[in-house]
Amino acid sequence: MQIKINFNAGPAALPPEVLHEAAKAVNKYKKTGLSILELPHRGKEFAEIIAESKQLVRELCGLDDNYEILWLHGGGRQQFFMIPMNFLPENGSAGYIDSGRWSEEALEYAAHYGDVQVLASSKKDNYRHLPTWPAKIPKNLAYVHFTTNNTIYGTQWKDVPESKGVPLIADMSSDIFSREHDYTKYSMFYAAVQKNLGTPGIALTAIRKDLLKKVARSLPPMLSYPAQVKEDSILNTANVFGIYVSLLMLRWIKAKGIATIEKDNNQKAQLLYSALDQSSVFTPYVTEKADRSMTNVCFTAKNAESEKAFLALCEENDIVGISGHRSAGGFRVSLYNAVDLESVRHLVRLMQEFESKER
Ligand SMILES: *Cc1c(COP(=O)(O)O)cnc(C)c1O
Repeated sequence: MQIKINFNAGPAALPPEVLHEAAKAVNKYKKTGLSILELPHRGKEFAEIIAESKQLVRELCGLDDNYEILWLHGGGRQQFFMIPMNFLPENGSAGYIDSGRWSEEALEYAAHYGDVQVLASSKKDNYRHLPTWPAKIPKNLAYVHFTTNNTIYGTQWKDVPESKGVPLIADMSSDIFSREHDYTKYSMFYAAVQKNLGTPGIALTAIRKDLLKKVARSLPPMLSYPAQVKEDSILNTANVFGIYVSLLMLRWIKAKGIATIEKDNNQKAQLLYSALDQSSVFTPYVTEKADRSMTNVCFTAKNAESEKAFLALCEENDIVGISGHRSAGGFRVSLYNAVDLESVRHLVRLMQEFESKER
């Protein structure tokens, strides 16, 4: 069977080497005589997996011992409510930057626990650009939350914005490890791992110790960051296989190097955006060039009929996962780390072939 070119937004493409290693471990994990699927979560081997994965996250993000690193259940959305549960007091306020559907969902979840202030929003323009970062940030906020890369609409904050001493929390689900980045500016960052870092259902989180001291209410241990830290992410039966796949991804990222990954990602994105900017059939969703995501490239075609025809052409040519999110429509091509330049070239050739017929 033909291997598909996978441009899905998540679960996303994984490198063939990682899939191969994961398959080997399913068969037999090292010299344990067990499959990784049978491996005890409180055994020595899994403790080694946790330790190496945390070490690699520290190394790749440049974090010192002031940060605690956790692998938690529940993907991205569980962080949407764990953050306010832990850090937003009932009579307190948190600031949210609303730059897309994920940011909006995060602030909706937070409103269950305390007051939420929307500090900036680009919702009225259907998130076609980033909102202007607020010039003033109230000092009394428990934290400011934002989304570094807006997966659905295809916008991205290129630098870490200034939060004026208020703890800054970033949802980095779709662009973690995609580029050089100053992670030490954050009091906390997190990522659902099914994009650049593995399989669904898990979140990688890094939290600075000063923020961990500010837990606002009594919580059941599963939902408490300090309780999870105390048990080193193994409070209950951990997702052993999923965390192992993330370790394989971290090793792959380290071997390739973030600088090389960033260079490749820029090349992929530039190839696609320049095809879109020159096109008479396709229109990029984000017009403000400085705001464009290097990871998720969104665009539309002339009309619904033309979109259907292009989708069919892609399917015939073994491309999957380019339909836009249900709230944005059109197309979305996700260029995660595991997607290679040749796949993007293949897509651009099809776009050009399609255009020459449509014109
Ligand atoms: C994918 C994604 C999420 C949601 O992750 P789930 O694991 O499906 O809950 C959250 N935030 C961003 C920015 C995402 O891209």
